[in-house]
Amino acid sequence: MTPTLAVTDLVKHFPIQKGLLAREVGQVRAVDGVSFAVAPGETLCVVGESGCGKSTVGRLILRLLEPTAGTITFEGRDVGRLSRSDFRPLRQELQIVFQDPYASLNPRMRAGAIVGEPLENFGTLGRAERKAHVAELFAKVGLPQDAMDRYAFEFSGGQRQRLGIARALAVAPKLIVADEPVSALDVSVQAQVLNLMMDLKAEFGLAYLFISHDLGVVEHVADRVAVMYLGQIVEIGTRAAIFAEPRHPYTKALMSAAPRPDPRAKRERIILEGDVPSPASPPAGCRFHTRCPFAFDRCRTEVPTLRDISADQKAACHLDEVGSS
Ligand code: SF4
Repeated sequence: MTPTLAVTDLVKHFPIQKGLLAREVGQVRAVDGVSFAVAPGETLCVVGESGCGKSTVGRLILRLLEPTAGTITFEGRDVGRLSRSDFRPLRQELQIVFQDPYASLNPRMRAGAIVGEPLENFGTLGRAERKAHVAELFAKVGLPQDAMDRYAFEFSGGQRQRLGIARALAVAPKLIVADEPVSALDVSVQAQVLNLMMDLKAEFGLAYLFISHDLGVVEHVADRVAVMYLGQIVEIGTRAAIFAEPRHPYTKALMSAAPRPDPRAKRERIILEGDVPSPASPPAGCRFHTRCPFAFDRCRTEVPTLRDISADQKAACHLDEVGSS
């Protein structure tokens, strides 16, 4: 089956410039050789600490940023080879839900116009049909019809995120990039918005690339999980496999620090030493070796590759090679 989205060896380096002549003195290696695929109707969660490159991946897929190298295919079409004008119709099928629903909604527009704007931009429907479709979308995301005449500031955080979701859904996308869509919301509202997103996924057959730092959220929504550290995927697999037995020491550390709903199921806490190194000068060998409690000599010089642990899980760690040889 052709995946909805496939990303191969994706790279994004940002130049570091200095001086009056803006001379390039280095590069921030925000994304450094990332590959994954998202099947139709699947939710792939990309998880990692702030600065690991996960949001940059989302922006590259939507062509809000141009990649340094690598390919992005959407339903088999190479997105990177399309001109801006050829990409435009495809953009309709690829939508985004932002972290901060307030900043992403135009404060001068009424809610109905905000949700209807993509329909207008893509010229999909006439005025009356557009209005009827927007009313349907309001009902779908649980907003009252009279809310169409209100401004964004008149809504609560959860309602604003519902507006953002309705706007993304307006043009019947196949994939939604959801960048930390609930992290700005109260915990009590997070579950409502997540449940809404999952209901809509089932109803419309949507695929999600769901970017989050919160493993509780990831466990709730993911079909598969990709764990990123310093611009690279260090572990990827099904939610069941990764949450049952994380293999990469970084994944283990993230999980050991995450609150568990059942306190009896507590994992042994792994405390990571030191800060995340700068992506402008990532460590040689395994990028995680400066913080890894299990690092040994080989880790400082040799880059581990992502290898199969099972049919459902891959990890990039020399320990797995040692264990399996
Ligand atoms: Fe730790 Fe070495 Fe595995 Fe990297 S390769 S995660 S440093 S044990």
